[in-house]
Amino acid sequence: MQKFSEFKYERPDLAAARRTLSKLAKSVRRAKGFSEVEQAIFGYSKLQSAVTTQMSLAHARHTIDIKDAFYDAEQKFFDRALPLATPWILAWYRALTKSRFTKEIDARFGTQYLHNVRKEMSAMSPKLMLDMIRENKLAREYEKLLASCKVDFHGEQLNLSGLRKYAQNPDRALRREAAELTSGFLKSHEAELDGLYDKLVKLRTRMGRKLGYKDYTPLGYLRMGRTFAPEEAARFREQVASVLVPLCQKLYDEQAGRIGVDKLKVYDEAFQFPDGNAKPEGGKEFMLAAAQRMYRELSSETGRFFDDMVARELMDLETKPNKRVGGYCTGFPDFGAAFIFSNFNGTSGDVDVLTHEAGHAFAAIQAGETQELVDYLTPGMEVAEIHSMSMEYFTHPWMELFFGQKAEKYRYAHILGSLVFVPYGVMVDEFQHIVYANPDMSPAERKAEWTKLEKKYLPQRDYDGDAFMEAGSFWQKQHHIYSLPFYYIDYTLASMGAFEFFGRMTENREEAWKDYLALCRAGGSLPYKDLLALAHLSNPFEPGSVERAAAPLVRALEAIDRAAL
Ligand code: ZN
Repeated sequence: MQKFSEFKYERPDLAAARRTLSKLAKSVRRAKGFSEVEQAIFGYSKLQSAVTTQMSLAHARHTIDIKDAFYDAEQKFFDRALPLATPWILAWYRALTKSRFTKEIDARFGTQYLHNVRKEMSAMSPKLMLDMIRENKLAREYEKLLASCKVDFHGEQLNLSGLRKYAQNPDRALRREAAELTSGFLKSHEAELDGLYDKLVKLRTRMGRKLGYKDYTPLGYLRMGRTFAPEEAARFREQVASVLVPLCQKLYDEQAGRIGVDKLKVYDEAFQFPDGNAKPEGGKEFMLAAAQRMYRELSSETGRFFDDMVARELMDLETKPNKRVGGYCTGFPDFGAAFIFSNFNGTSGDVDVLTHEAGHAFAAIQAGETQELVDYLTPGMEVAEIHSMSMEYFTHPWMELFFGQKAEKYRYAHILGSLVFVPYGVMVDEFQHIVYANPDMSPAERKAEWTKLEKKYLPQRDYDGDAFMEAGSFWQKQHHIYSLPFYYIDYTLASMGAFEFFGRMTENREEAWKDYLALCRAGGSLPYKDLLALAHLSNPFEPGSVERAAAPLVRALEAIDRAAL
């Protein structure tokens, strides 16, 4: 079995790919029987698998060292090549949708296949090619800007991930200083950050209008493969505002009392216990050994999966200079492998990577072993995040391996963190809806909207006199807002599914795991609501869903004896 470092990267031969694609489209157009169409669909999937694998490989290696000139050039190649492939992909899609064998396609592959094709077609146009290239370029500029952060902090050179670890430091002065440095870094790039976002909003608005929409939002929904409407998202946000916001204020007040401060400041929010949050008891090797034991004990499927991740070195976990910030999981379908990227900083967040990103990777491998087509490997992100967030809960019983006697403390903080995340998550979504509905707003007006939303969703938020943050700048470090418009609500919708799994695993763990596995294996072969039904999960858009989903977490928090933590 090849290791990650041995995976051979080769820039795809675009001319050859185009020839293959036209040949496939032609064979669909001229098909005398369905078997020719079926073969062409498998041929397309094979081509997709090859290109996706190389693209993910270039992307992974680029993010590990954004200064590496070779992969920087390869990333630039893909950023241009994919938009430019639009006419070829559209021709293939047109051949499929106009085929006289569409009924047979539905019967053989499920209705989701052509449904996805039609949806993608409506978001694609040769008119958008140059805009998409520009959009990719601006998003990369933003990522590079954030990755360029290098500040001196008590003799240590830190990037943004490194600074974030001080949000959990027991010394309040250090927490404040780290928050000020983060804010200071953003402020020193304020004009660039404002300018990049302004360009992105205006560019995306033009793209939406080129396709005949009033603004970017409908196109944004199509590009995310949405099956729900903006009105449903709005009603969901209101449920969060009325149910979770008051609950979270109670939790924050309690936290202030617990850590002994009069008023919780922004740099106290992640600090939950007077003697500090639970920290993993060892470094990377310790964590990997603990995770390996955990996944072997959890189930035979997870054991096999994680052993493979370790043996093939499919994880780049430690923070390094010139590494992109954040964490993600990606897949290399040709190698039957997934890859986890993160910036370990010694906090409990490192364990979250080994559960959350591993949840994504596990789902990708399960779907890869079950699904025949690359198109069916991944569902929309509102389901993919259920894979990852539920794994965070399925692994709760093993937290002693990472935190020793502090495991209960970790579990408490994790549940608390999951609940208070949701108001922030929907707020990011509402912000983007406002921004794209009003594309002519100035950067200052956008920031004023953010401040208004903070009053609605995060009334506890206190920046302690930091004028830059008080002016509504916090979102400028949230890379989804720049690079992945309308993504963020997925985390909050998926939270509801993960919360539900959490409740169900306390009642009947075996059943819950069976449904989780079925959900992972189904990949993206079914529409959103059918995937939820398959896993016996509720529809988060139904009235009362937020309160019901959160109830088991609230009960779990109450059952934990805080004084003993
Ligand atoms: Zn995720």
